[in-house]
Amino acid sequence: MAKTPAGKSPPPRKSATKKPAAPKKAVGSVAPARKSAAKARAAQKKDVATDAPQLGLKERRQDFVNEFLVDLNATQAAIRAGYSPETAGQIGHELLKKPEIQLAISEARKSQQERTQITADRALREAWSIATADARELVELYVGACRYCHGEGHRYHRTLTEFNKARESWLEEGKDPAEFDEMGGIGFNPLAPPHHECPECAGAGWPRQVVKDTRRLSPAAAALYAGTKLTKDGLQIQMHSKLDALEKVFKHLGLYEQDNKQKADALASLLHTISGGNNSGFQPVADDPERTTKG
Ligand SMILES: [Zn+2]
Repeated sequence: MAKTPAGKSPPPRKSATKKPAAPKKAVGSVAPARKSAAKARAAQKKDVATDAPQLGLKERRQDFVNEFLVDLNATQAAIRAGYSPETAGQIGHELLKKPEIQLAISEARKSQQERTQITADRALREAWSIATADARELVELYVGACRYCHGEGHRYHRTLTEFNKARESWLEEGKDPAEFDEMGGIGFNPLAPPHHECPECAGAGWPRQVVKDTRRLSPAAAALYAGTKLTKDGLQIQMHSKLDALEKVFKHLGLYEQDNKQKADALASLLHTISGGNNSGFQPVADDPERTTKG
């Protein structure tokens, strides 16, 4: 936590390099903007060795801190801060370990949070919501009777509307009303339980996707929901990745530290397996019995 000396008001945030009066010798070599990577790194080392925490960071390092806050990617931040792309990975990694860089990052984060009111707590809660949301609030799979489960003599079963329509067109075509095939009769209910002796589905029934009303979602399911898309195959419900959200939580809890990399990778792959590897969308059922079978 950075405290301003008593009696002084905090400096405006325009300059990144605030220098407490104490150890002056530390701010020595100011490296020219472009140097060979090796030279730059040597300069880094020398500079870091003498830097005390709280000391102003060199401009490029402050750039690194600023860029790191954009995407939390040390390598990309180092490149954008002007370090050589060839060594940016290593430099970024090294920089992140420096106490003064860590301090600068945490201070910048703190003031960022104060400005935006977006706290780590809130972000963590949001990620946790996504990770633990029940996807069935968005879309469910119902398994109910097939068309032949409860029809008379296990013949094709129609709803009243379907039956009447079929009969109407039969009559419009001038056919003999007495010859109209009533098949399994009226009363098809897709939510009725399957018939265990059904010759068509053998009691397994038919799966039906049921898309839920998004106006009544719990906060967790609302966090999981990422919109809908009308595709040529039907409505696609999109969801944020539970796996990504879980990884963010794990990262926050420190389960992804470098030393634990292998463990973390194994964990990630385990999570991926558990989650079925696809949390980003829901494919509509292609063989919807309501659509493929004619009544
Ligand atoms: Zn059936």
